Amino acid sequence: MSEESEYNGYDTTIVYDYKQYPDKQAGRCDNCGHSNFKSTAKNYKFLRECRNCGMKKSI
Ligand SMILES: [Zn+2]
Repeated sequence: MSEESEYNGYDTTIVYDYKQYPDKQAGRCDNCGHSNFKSTAKNYKFLRECRNCGMKKSI
């Protein structure tokens, strides 16, 4: 059984835009539901990466 079955099918290799993909549950990852994020600022954009599944979203 794969761990990926817990996920909602988001592609973790691309960066999602928060405006197009607002959080289904505020502060939680849309892909896996975890609330543990790593945040980085890049090119004046704020990038939030899930520590569990690696889904990225620009805020
Ligand atoms: Zn996640």
